[in-house]
Order: sequence, then C-alpha cells, then structure tokens
Amino acid sequence: MRGFGFSEHGGTDRLAYVDLPEPSPGPGEVRVRLRAAAFNRLDRFTLAGIPGVTVERPHVLGSDGAGVVERLGEGVADLALGDRVLLNPGLWDGTCDACRRGDEAMCRSYRIVGEHTQGTATELLCLPRRNVRPLPEGWTFEQGAAAPLVFQTAWRALRTVAGLVPGDRLAVVGAGGGVAPAAVQVGRLLGATVTVASRNRTKEEAVARLGATSFVTFDDATPLDRVLWQASEKKGFDVIFDSVGAPTLPRSLRAVGRGGRIVVIGATAGPVVELDVRTLFWRQASIRGSTMAGAREFDEVLGHLASGELRPVIDVTFPFEDGPAAFRRLDSAELFGKVVLRGPGPGPEGP
Ligand SMILES: [Zn+2]
Repeated sequence: MRGFGFSEHGGTDRLAYVDLPEPSPGPGEVRVRLRAAAFNRLDRFTLAGIPGVTVERPHVLGSDGAGVVERLGEGVADLALGDRVLLNPGLWDGTCDACRRGDEAMCRSYRIVGEHTQGTATELLCLPRRNVRPLPEGWTFEQGAAAPLVFQTAWRALRTVAGLVPGDRLAVVGAGGGVAPAAVQVGRLLGATVTVASRNRTKEEAVARLGATSFVTFDDATPLDRVLWQASEKKGFDVIFDSVGAPTLPRSLRAVGRGGRIVVIGATAGPVVELDVRTLFWRQASIRGSTMAGAREFDEVLGHLASGELRPVIDVTFPFEDGPAAFRRLDSAELFGKVVLRGPGPGPEGP
C-alpha cells in the first residue's frame, strides 16, 4: 500500500511516496481505511529527525486521521465494519502508574502516531480499539482528521495544566498553524477572555470569528511583551498559551500577571531560551509544559466538538497526490488551521 512520508530524514526535498506492507490488526486492534489525514508541525520535526526518536523507514507521516473501520482484531466486538471513525494519535501502555491512575498523557512509554509509529497519510492503519472514536454526526472525514491532536493539546494545556477558570484573561501567542484556533475556542468555552497576539494582521478576522476578545500584533519595533502588557491594562495575563518558544517565551514571562501561568506546548521557532527569573519569582508565576492529553480528556473535548461548541478549523485540503504541496503549506505565513490530505481513495468498501 502507498503512504506519504520519507525514506531518509532531512528537509522537504526528502518527502516521498513510499510502499509499505498492509498491516494486520492484532488482538484488541482495529484496522481503519484512512479517508483523510492532517499534518502538524510535529511532522516537520519527524521528517528532520528528532533526537532520541528512531523511526522505522520508510516512514509514513501524519498523526491525525479519519476513515472507516475495515477489519476488527480479535476481541473487538463493539464496532462494525464500515463505521465512520476518527483516531486519537496518543499511544499509552495502560499498565504504568500514570496510566493506572487515569493520566495517560504522563505514561512512561507515551508515544504519538506518526512520530514514533507509522502515520496516518496512508491507506490502512491498525490502532488499539481505545484510539478509535465515532466520527461526530454530520462531520466530513476532513473535519475528523483536523480535530484530534490540536484540540486535545489545547484542552489539557488550558484546562488541566494551566487551570483556566471563567473570568481569567488568556493570551494565545502566535496564530499560525492548527493549535491556536483550538486554544482560542477552548479558552472561550472555559469562560476566559481571549487575546491573540500574532505577527500577522491578516489573522485578526479569523480569530475574531472563533471568539477571541481582542487581537494584537507585534514585531521587532513593538515587541510582544509591550503589546500584551497594554492589552491586559497593565495587569498581566492570568494564563499565556505559548507554542512559539525561543523568540516569545521570555517576553511572555514579562506579560504574565501575579500568580499567572504560562503553558508551553511546543517550540515551533526554537527550543533554547534565556529567562529573567526575577520576573518569575516576583510575579509568583509558573511555567509549565503540557503535551497531548489522557483518554478522559480526549473524550471530554471530543464531546464538545461533537456538540458543536468547538469546531475544527481547516486551512486547506489537498488531494493525496499533492502531499509535498500540502506539507509546504505548513510553512506559509498565511496558514490558519489544519492542512488536510484527502484520500488516498475511497477503497473497495465504497463511499
Ligand atoms: Zn502508561
């Protein structure tokens, strides 16, 4: 079967269509015929090679996917062939201390589909039954592929880790990519006022449609901390959601209020930062990391998606044959929402 990924790590010139054997579902697994996959910044890092992570090659990219149930492994009786499903890309062992207390995101052997295992940009994928969820009523496969990674990331980061509560002032730093549109919506759902800070003014209308209360732009002359400080009426923010990393984190720290929480879910623009710890202790602020989500958190946010309170945001959909163009879109300054790959095709089971 065909997949889109790479045989050698490197830049986008290494992207290729690869051949893989069809996987067979083991006990407790489900084989899904993919109808849509979506990319994340994570795929760029996987392509380049992540220190400490060894992938099987050729490797198929993509953590997010949706499709139809095509075969059931031994012991799986509560799904039917042809069921429309979306996939939770988080993989946990279910046996360690964290898993036993229901905090699967802290699993000692936590892995992510497409990063540590073969990804979703292919025809068939086998995953544990617990990773397979019904596609919400009326959703397209593209919507199903656009939701799982970014919404569970925003949900855990804001609700569980940052402890966002109604009335909090939330700042979302950066509006590119797929996670900011999720964070804005989750922030509003949890009752916060949401300010989005971006280098790109063209995102203003889109974030306003998602419920952002205010929008500020920053650049080298008017830096992030200054515009955020003013936007918070010089009180600082209760929670700052920062996925940018090196260029923004020191400035996010200067814009946090007393007792404020900065939650870091990625470092798309660089991982190594220098911080003025005097601000940290004087404001009694905290900086916490968060990644992915546990099983219960995933189902909570999926419930809000299925009810329509949250909605996946698709930047653009490409046919399966245009994988390289889809991937390059991740680098676009205009990117807002998810880049989705449709296909590879309907397969023998029909529409
Ligand atoms: Zn575990």
